[in-house]
Amino acid sequence: MNCISCGNKDDTVPVDDYKIWTLYHCKDCNLHFWDPLDFDETQYRNRVKYSRYELFEIIEPYHHQALKVLQDNFKGIHGKLNILEIGCGNGSFLNMLTDKSGLNANYYGIDLNCHAIEFAKNNFGFGENVKCVDFLDESEFSSERLYDILIILEVLEHQTELHVFIDKLKKMLAPGGCIIGTVPNNDRYIPLGIREIWDYPPHHFTRWDSLSLRRLLSNHNFQTIEIMSCNHWSISRLSNHIQSLLVRRFRNFIFKKSVEMETTNMTSLSTFLVFIRTLNKYVIKYIFRILTMPILLIMHSHYINSGRKGTLIMFFAKNIK
Ligand SMILES: [Zn+2]
Repeated sequence: MNCISCGNKDDTVPVDDYKIWTLYHCKDCNLHFWDPLDFDETQYRNRVKYSRYELFEIIEPYHHQALKVLQDNFKGIHGKLNILEIGCGNGSFLNMLTDKSGLNANYYGIDLNCHAIEFAKNNFGFGENVKCVDFLDESEFSSERLYDILIILEVLEHQTELHVFIDKLKKMLAPGGCIIGTVPNNDRYIPLGIREIWDYPPHHFTRWDSLSLRRLLSNHNFQTIEIMSCNHWSISRLSNHIQSLLVRRFRNFIFKKSVEMETTNMTSLSTFLVFIRTLNKYVIKYIFRILTMPILLIMHSHYINSGRKGTLIMFFAKNIK
């Protein structure tokens, strides 16, 4: 089995199985990858309308960290930046950048999920700057302009055509342009040793650590500027998780209600959605944080004892060729 990142064929060994997939470990670059690599984009395209991403403006701790990296490196630079987020979802992070970064920039976003893009257009006013397209599909998304910064948060691990994806990134980058992204840290602390279901195919096809990331970036002529661990078990992250589990139950009710309203009255629908989001932003979110505090403290002590760093790895790199 050839490593899908470094191409090494002598040092990849099978280490796990899941359903129809086998997990391989490349001993050369340290990447773990699943085989077969059969990406099913419909799972993203068809994701339910009014999911938690549309109902609640979810800002994760890594969003704050990415914001800081971008401010530290690009604030006050001459000229206007073109920034594209690939997999921008409902536009929460782009909205955060617009409001808080102080960068002189045009913001663009793309995502496979048209409901999320609709939300970004209607609620954050991104208009035609956000599009529901497949990044890899040349007929849907081609190079109309070059970008100074490409943002790929929680995107790389979903890719099955790794080199095609990176080549397209490079094609879209202006000379000296940068990429910033995150991936789940394969060496993270995993509570009770039970790996989350989203870390398996058909969601994630690769598992990264700092070594495998550095190798991928240098093999593609990126200069790694920073690799950091991020998103420790924070109270907001934990309460987000628990909240989203409970919201799944509540979602059917909201979904039914929203569809009813959509056919009768669009104004009351948007008032209803604004009400739900505001209620979450100022009340529900904090109730969850208080309720989850004891669980967090236990998990935090386990996390400290595990000696492991970060649930995610953030990388920031410059295109040098
Ligand atoms: Zn490899």
